[in-house]
Amino acid sequence: MTDSGKSLITATVNFDKGGIQTGFLRIPHSVDRSAYGYLPIPVFVAVNGEGPTVLMLGANHGDEYEGPIGLMHLLHGLALERLQGRLIVLPTLNLPAVLAGTRTSPIDKVNLNRSFPGKRHGTPTEMLAHYIETELISQADFVFDFHSGGKTLSYLPILFVLRPTDAASQSLTDRIVRAFGCERVRYIDQLAFNEDRTSGAAARRRGAVFLSGEFGGCGSVSKEGVTLVEQGTLRVLHELGVLGADDEISRPALVNIQSFNYSRAEHYVYAPRGGLFEPSFSLGDSIVAGQRAGFIHDPAEPWNAPREVLFQADGLAICYRPLAHVEAGDCLAHLAIPEAS
Ligand SMILES: [Zn+2]
Repeated sequence: MTDSGKSLITATVNFDKGGIQTGFLRIPHSVDRSAYGYLPIPVFVAVNGEGPTVLMLGANHGDEYEGPIGLMHLLHGLALERLQGRLIVLPTLNLPAVLAGTRTSPIDKVNLNRSFPGKRHGTPTEMLAHYIETELISQADFVFDFHSGGKTLSYLPILFVLRPTDAASQSLTDRIVRAFGCERVRYIDQLAFNEDRTSGAAARRRGAVFLSGEFGGCGSVSKEGVTLVEQGTLRVLHELGVLGADDEISRPALVNIQSFNYSRAEHYVYAPRGGLFEPSFSLGDSIVAGQRAGFIHDPAEPWNAPREVLFQADGLAICYRPLAHVEAGDCLAHLAIPEAS
């Protein structure tokens, strides 16, 4: 067997056909209860006129909801006659995980966003990653993949873009960031970025412009996050010339945009032991190094003094763990470091 061949996944839609189609990717899944079965992954395709291909993904992780719901709103309101180009949208990319309410797929326990470039002969999740990279990202000019903190983390909304490396990509990135209208943006350094198993890495390998971000968390649905995903995406599609104007998306987002970075170990706070985590800060607080991030209480010997955990850098508290129960090694919080503009 070789991993170099065409994907074994098939699609019930024709990605080159004009008009709007809905259907499914079929991941072959021959198991005890279904000898010739497949796992369906919903896919929406809209093709009209001449223009770029935009691939939009939600629920890469199954317990992150602002991306999928924002994209569902976008699909419900899409007018084909205003489209110039092709939209390929998978709002519930990791459907088995969405249905289970889990980050990773319950079928094989594999994390889709740590599986690219995937495997032709892999587990269902690895096969899906292989299909997405070789069949869809490979023909996309733009790839949008919207995330949140899932059940175990909560984020203030923040848009991710790759840090431009030349004047042309600087100009395009600036236009996209302004159009999207999220007040926080994280520039990801391409050279310093070693993680090559994500959808963003796949987009880089295939030469597509990548847009991502975190838009909420706690396994809940943030109204602000959903609105940003839907309206921000519509404004970017309009800015790129893919969607013609209407009253809603012609209106620019009037926000002050601050750029941030975070990638160093000292930007993160981890639990040194298990117990009950009591945070000492709120999302959005400005933090200084040495400030207490919280206490970890010992429920088995409650007379013991709680263990203090401290922030190790200055920055904005952009993410925290909303669950009280923690084990050693769990991420409790992290900072975003403002950059001079
Ligand atoms: Zn995610």
